[in-house]
Amino acid sequence: KKALFDSAKSRPAVTLDGKTVRVNINSGDSDSIANFKCDECDGVGLFRTEFIYMDHSDYPTEEEQFEIYRSMAQMNQGKELIIRTLDIGGDKQLEYMDLPKESNPFLGYRAIRLCLERVDVFKTQLRAILRAGVFGDVKIMFPMIVNLEELLKAKEILEEAKKELKAEGTDFRADIPVGIMVETPAAVLLSDKLAEEVSFFSIGSNDLIQYTTASDRMNERVQSLYDSFNISVLRSIRMVCENAARHGVAVGICGEAASDTKLVPLWVAMGVDELSMVPSQVAKVKYMIGRLSKEEMQRELAEVLAMGRIQDVKDRLAEIESKLL
Ligand code: PEP
Ligand code: MG
Repeated sequence: KKALFDSAKSRPAVTLDGKTVRVNINSGDSDSIANFKCDECDGVGLFRTEFIYMDHSDYPTEEEQFEIYRSMAQMNQGKELIIRTLDIGGDKQLEYMDLPKESNPFLGYRAIRLCLERVDVFKTQLRAILRAGVFGDVKIMFPMIVNLEELLKAKEILEEAKKELKAEGTDFRADIPVGIMVETPAAVLLSDKLAEEVSFFSIGSNDLIQYTTASDRMNERVQSLYDSFNISVLRSIRMVCENAARHGVAVGICGEAASDTKLVPLWVAMGVDELSMVPSQVAKVKYMIGRLSKEEMQRELAEVLAMGRIQDVKDRLAEIESKLL
């Protein structure tokens, strides 16, 4: 099987009925930058920038960030590079930020919430990304959005950063595409409105499962509830895909569930344009996509999402998987 999977990895993933799905990788530690290879994927669907802040004893400067983003963009050989702005808080803390301890960090002061208050920190990062945009197909993505106001505010700060760069005569990419992570139930339910303001969505299934099922993703005791096959989660993802399609917005998935080969046929049926994952899953997922028909999977999807029991969904998806792999 490995040879079969490997034969698929250097080609684009296209379904039997002609739908191309970009298969990207997630990246986000200094190792992955040192050993970065983009030959066997269609791009980087999620560049987690937290490690840059965690590896420093103080906020990384614009220059330090610019060097990292630029070298990633160049190594990426013109393929897309989606850079997610700082998603600190929750399970990831920065000592030099010196934030008070919270009793519910996953429901607290994190990600875009923090960036919108610490405009200095946020703008430094946005400037570095805008400048790196000159060196490749760089896109900006905001995490943890729960309403339209946050998105509009973030875009406003991005515009300010562009104005500053322009006034200074510094090179940057003015038409950089902007997207958001859809990883809260609030963003799912508002995805029709959010779609009017972005060029792409990336569904963060890790957090979406956590917030939809009210099960802490780090808590062993509730791991059986934290389930990517939870039907409410699947219906949420379908809703986001429908709203994205209606507004001509590209949609991808970048949580762990993106590369689960029991779920990949469902994602294709829902119409995803992109899946982003750990590099080790790319070949298998590309191979699978090449063997399925989107139209046929859409019939399965309708049946699966009409089910009430998670186990029935799992059984049906296991059957489909066994025919494809
Ligand atoms: C997610 O929430 O699915 C995601 C990809 O982001 P992170 O795991 O970094 O929260
Ligand atoms: Mg997340």
